[in-house]
Amino acid sequence: MPEDADFLSTPLQFLKGVGPRRAADLRRVGLETVEDLVYRFPFRYEDRSRLAPIGSLQPTDQRVSVAGEVVQCAAQPGWRSRASRTEALVKDDSGYVRVVWFNQPYLRDVFARGKHVVLYGKVEVYRGHLQMTSPAYEFVEADEVVTAGSGRIVPVYEKAGDLSAKVQRKLVREALDRLPDTLEDPLPVDLRARLDLPPRRQALLDTHFPPDDTPLDALNLYRTPGQRRLIFEEFLLFQIGILLRRREAAAVPKAFVPVVNDAIRESARRVLPFHLTAGQKQALAEIVGDMQQPTPMNRLLQGDVGAGKTIVALLAAVVAMENGLQVAFMAPTEILAEQHDFNLRRLLEGSRFRVELLTGAIGAATRRVQRAAIASGDAHLVVGTHALVQEGVTFHRLGFVVIDEQHRFGVLQRATLREKGLNPDVLVMTATPIPRTLALTVHGDLDVSVIRDLPPGRRPIRTMVRPEAARAEVYEIIRAQIEEGRQAYVVYPLVEESAKVDLRAATEMADHLATDVFPEFRVALLHGRMKQNAKDRVMKAFAAGDLHILVATTVVEEGIDVPNAAVMVIEHAERFGLSQLHQLRGRVGRGRHQSSCILLHQAPLSEEGAYRLKAMAETADGFVIAERDMELRGPGDLAGTRQSGLPALRVGDLVRDRALMEDARREARAWLAQAPEDDLLVAFVRRTWAPRFGLAEVG
Ligand code: ADP
Ligand code: MG
Repeated sequence: MPEDADFLSTPLQFLKGVGPRRAADLRRVGLETVEDLVYRFPFRYEDRSRLAPIGSLQPTDQRVSVAGEVVQCAAQPGWRSRASRTEALVKDDSGYVRVVWFNQPYLRDVFARGKHVVLYGKVEVYRGHLQMTSPAYEFVEADEVVTAGSGRIVPVYEKAGDLSAKVQRKLVREALDRLPDTLEDPLPVDLRARLDLPPRRQALLDTHFPPDDTPLDALNLYRTPGQRRLIFEEFLLFQIGILLRRREAAAVPKAFVPVVNDAIRESARRVLPFHLTAGQKQALAEIVGDMQQPTPMNRLLQGDVGAGKTIVALLAAVVAMENGLQVAFMAPTEILAEQHDFNLRRLLEGSRFRVELLTGAIGAATRRVQRAAIASGDAHLVVGTHALVQEGVTFHRLGFVVIDEQHRFGVLQRATLREKGLNPDVLVMTATPIPRTLALTVHGDLDVSVIRDLPPGRRPIRTMVRPEAARAEVYEIIRAQIEEGRQAYVVYPLVEESAKVDLRAATEMADHLATDVFPEFRVALLHGRMKQNAKDRVMKAFAAGDLHILVATTVVEEGIDVPNAAVMVIEHAERFGLSQLHQLRGRVGRGRHQSSCILLHQAPLSEEGAYRLKAMAETADGFVIAERDMELRGPGDLAGTRQSGLPALRVGDLVRDRALMEDARREARAWLAQAPEDDLLVAFVRRTWAPRFGLAEVG
């Protein structure tokens, strides 16, 4: 191994200034080697030569940095539920600013009189005085905050345990000073030259200790050449790994490769009760194209609720069945499996294909008969829950698997299938729109088809945002709709931490609606803590039209299809994320009636809350909503991504750097297309990918 690789893996203890104690501290926060340290990047940069004079501060929404001397500091103890309050006064030549913290009484001793400190945070006016509340702070030497013009950009690191920003800077400096000139660069020279990227060593240096003339904005946006190079490197390695994984998964050919001819096309056409939309046609073409390949399909079909994914999957299934293959159609819940069974059976009525539904509700005798039919191949299409494949059902010739609404599951399921010696085409369907960058990341090993249009004749859902004060008016809308023969959902948020309280609120609301507001209607409650059969009972009653109003916690998201439900009121709409609101709203607007969704919110509305509700009222496009949601909350919280797993990134940011992820995907593809067997970059990825990105090897 070259000397430089050794250097990066050197334990931190061998750095100057790190004794066994500090090494242990560092280890506790996940820093063991030089590599760990130099790949922990500043989260912002400060130009200490251009700090705002305190006297010039104005209250703004932007965070600012100021520097000054601590004049005094005092703490008021807390009392009952009131937080303790620590208050410091900090001055520079131009004025004073008050600094306040809650529940951190120890800060009184930390902010000792005469110390010099740099503060970073928002400035507000409180009782006529400028104030910063809970700013980030760093103590400095008096001469470290230098006079204007000398230019000194300082990297600021996220706090790591007891390690102060200052000490971290010193250690990073020490490590970088010792970085060998010959540091191995995983990016090949020609690639770097073509994309105009600086060498790794230079990029590390410039990112931690930017030259004085580097524009501060560019630094803070992570857009300097050095930063871009590090981000690109990270994304490229990630994408090469994903593509390699995918190539390996595709290396095992399928047992049967379907063909498509006119007779088969005609058979599919006979099943189709309407004309496909352009989006459906395109998706179907992509799927059937995959099916005719010698290696198994791994495709994700994305489309908003109601986009018509089922019929696309069914037409592809007909192609498989016409080729003598069996199809498994899996749904996340038994109710949804029953719904699919009902629809698919009806669509296949005039065909020779036999559908079987496997659920827990079926008696042992029937089950035996069903299993025999599946094993002999007499049953062509088997509908069930996701457990279907695991339950040891033996297929005669399983060639095509459709998985509704469970992305990660699709990948794992494929592994199970392969263990059983089956290697069918797999189509995963989801109504959770995912921004493209994220799809390239969490589903990078799947091909993606998207249906963006809706079948003709759908009436867009009318979305209204209403404050609590308009509650009476909202009830009248519900009443009017029910009198017209429609049904309504009233949805309550149920957040984990306060689940009990929320549940009580939902229960009380259901009682209140049933007895005081709508005594003439039938109202029921549905929530996640109910027993499964109680839930099923309520859902079936609602689907059958026996209930007028369903008060539900967010379980209603999980896919009930009641076309007659035309109103949805979402209580505390400000507490929901955008994607979740969108999923909920998709429960209405499924029939021929004009539907409405009323977002009822409590005052005061935060800026972000107002933005979310406005976005909901403005657009029905799930992809637009998903993009905005990702901007607001970051990729980790987006519906559907948590279960899929995001890679551990050290420098790249999936929102900020999405364009670079696209570039990296393209370059990764191009590189692999020409890379020889013994390519160094590919070897590097194979060696480092799984531990580096924290993703287990699956599929
Ligand atoms: P989802 O994508 O949410 O699974 P479905 O497949 O359940 O949507 O389709 C929703 C409804 O739209 C179904 O009743 C289906 O029959 C109908 N539908 C699907 N495609 C079309 C189309 N091209 N024209 C008319 N109706 C369609
Ligand atoms: Mg569906």
